[in-house]
Amino acid sequence: MILKKLKLFKTEQVSSDAITGALSSVIDEDQGKDIISLGMVSGVQVQDGAVLFVIEVDSARGPALEPLRLKAEQAVLALDGVSRVTAVLAAARKAPQVAANQTSIQLDGQTAGKLASQTSSSSSSSSGHPDPHGMNKNPPLTLPIKKIIAVASGKGGVGKSTVAVNLALALSKAGLRAGILDADIYGPSVPRLLKLPAVKPEMNSLEKLVPYEAHGVKVMSIGFMVEEDTPMIWRGPMVQTAIYQMLRDVDWIDEASGQTEYLDVLVVDMPPGTGDAQLTMAQKVPLSGAIIVSTPQDIALIDARKGIGMFEKVDVPVLGIIENMSMFICPNCNHEAHIFGHGGAKAEATKLGCGFLGEIPLDIDIRVTSDEGQPVIVSNPDGAPARIFADIASQIKAQLFPA
Ligand code: ADP
Repeated sequence: MILKKLKLFKTEQVSSDAITGALSSVIDEDQGKDIISLGMVSGVQVQDGAVLFVIEVDSARGPALEPLRLKAEQAVLALDGVSRVTAVLAAARKAPQVAANQTSIQLDGQTAGKLASQTSSSSSSSSGHPDPHGMNKNPPLTLPIKKIIAVASGKGGVGKSTVAVNLALALSKAGLRAGILDADIYGPSVPRLLKLPAVKPEMNSLEKLVPYEAHGVKVMSIGFMVEEDTPMIWRGPMVQTAIYQMLRDVDWIDEASGQTEYLDVLVVDMPPGTGDAQLTMAQKVPLSGAIIVSTPQDIALIDARKGIGMFEKVDVPVLGIIENMSMFICPNCNHEAHIFGHGGAKAEATKLGCGFLGEIPLDIDIRVTSDEGQPVIVSNPDGAPARIFADIASQIKAQLFPA
């Protein structure tokens, strides 16, 4: 079993036997047996009438098993004493393989319990249609944050997280109360970039998570919430709920100490890509704008176009494109070498009628300082890369808070 053992809280109103009994009636049609006999159910948790459990499946079958998940939820919801149910599809450890672009993540038991107590009665939308990402049930967010901006990319490895962290720090240096939320479920790297432990933050007197703070910026990461060493894929519903809770259940402004001043800007490091999970996230997080990071290669630009299209679809304005690893400046002779070609992102931005925010060079200092948890904005604020980030930050600030 890859998940925590069956664990029931003292306050339970429904027994584990009753839950097991209900789930025994749920048949996995492909295998012709019920999901209990097949050993597919694990991680059952109950708290105050809320039930959460995991259905372990072969990762290749995952997307087709949403009806099974809904059936399992409905079966448990029908039990006396159950008010809310969350069933999550997860890849079984013995599954042949994990999708190539997904870093495996496991939800820790505490987080799972919290999710169980806070998610609503089923994963169907109010319209009665299945809601694969489990977000429709959540009420609109009201947060003590003036502007939330997404940093996105059409594909991984273009430097999105590096840019997001440096921008959050640069916005803070530009006088804004800033935070960063690392929502990159496939590979949360903000803890590493800011040298923070991948440990779940503490809960304060308001029962909210206390974000970490680095160089004056509040930091929350999905990397703090999960155990990375135990392989498991997070399926859509839990990921979406976790993101929602990382926004809502974090004391972004230190309300517990009586602070009332809003955060000016929260930078969200989005998961790379333009798939369904990203689209739902873009739709559900109350974004004021988005920034697309792209490398100069054509292929990345094609992906960047998709990113722009995704935000247009959900009516989030694209504040601009950033071309990262744009050129190499020789540290000895200052010669500019355009290794991958150059200017494609700018031309594309012009063509698409969205802004172009700047070009960040391929720079060893950016690379090394990222690895050391000391981004250039703080470790070498007068260097060329830091000045470019500062310039981009001031453009973003001007867009978000016009004078
Ligand atoms: P993504 O979030 O898009 O997957 P990362 O921010 O994790 O990408 O960056 C990928 C790698 O590229 C990291 O090792 C990072 O240090 C490096 N990197 C990012 N931007 C630059 C840059 N402008 N110059 C040099 N290295 C960079």
